[in-house]
Amino acid sequence: MKVTEKIDDMKRLRQPLTEPVGLVPTMGYLHEGHLALVRRAREENISVVVSIFVNPTQFGPREDFNRYPRDPQRDLTLLEKERTDIVFMPSPAEMYPAQFNSWVEIGKVTERLEGASRPGHLRGVATICAKLFNIIQPTKAYFGQKDAQQLVVIKKMVADLNMNLEIVTVPTVREPDGLAMSSRNTYLNPEQRRAAIVLYQALSLAQKLWSQGERDAAKLRQQMTDLICKQPLANIDYISIANAETLDELDRVNTPALVSLAVRISNTRLIDNVVL
Ligand code: AMP
Repeated sequence: MKVTEKIDDMKRLRQPLTEPVGLVPTMGYLHEGHLALVRRAREENISVVVSIFVNPTQFGPREDFNRYPRDPQRDLTLLEKERTDIVFMPSPAEMYPAQFNSWVEIGKVTERLEGASRPGHLRGVATICAKLFNIIQPTKAYFGQKDAQQLVVIKKMVADLNMNLEIVTVPTVREPDGLAMSSRNTYLNPEQRRAAIVLYQALSLAQKLWSQGERDAAKLRQQMTDLICKQPLANIDYISIANAETLDELDRVNTPALVSLAVRISNTRLIDNVVL
């Protein structure tokens, strides 16, 4: 496994790789969710590149960029076991030199949900992914369903800007009690960790009511809200039932629907989703 922090090195190491080349972009502090992406990339490609970069431009000024968990040595050990070919782990100065001044703005699908709660977040995500795609030139790039709006945005960018790669969606990996795996789960103390299952409970309730025939989105949202409000440590940021492609909010659930939510458990903001 080769490891580099430099863009020029990464481009040079990319040249001799045998196609197809799978890319897994991450912010590190790897867990089984990330490793599911790496394993899928390993299955579908001859060469696998993983990037580890805590991208400053996708964090708001009052967000957790500085305290975001980092453990590069542990990450490298895990990636070696998965037979990764190259790990690209640049510094912020390498990716954003002082004169950097170009941004990828995706339109309407960034206006709601994470885009509304975290101004600039999806612009930062789209910009860093465009840079990684240009540097690494992957055949396919792998993203988790856990960040559903991010996936919609990246797919839209690739289609609209005619980028020459395929985006692959990997299902969300969960803890045994249903909590979606996330690097941010490490912020939770034991009491908050127990409270955090309320996200998955609310999503499961929506799935159950929908499978019993409920198609009124307002009723589904209300039942989810009522359930989460019973958990004293939980504060709802949003609950959405939207068209899974356009992310337009639905009144009736009669197309494939993305049920997504963002909830604060004390100070930790968690997101999760299911598709109906
Ligand atoms: P992150 O390091 O949080 O930026 O995540 C890197 C990639 O891993 C993104 O495509 C995420 O959607 C994906 N990912 C994070 N958590 C999970 C999970 N629990 N299951 C599947 N994919 C995940």
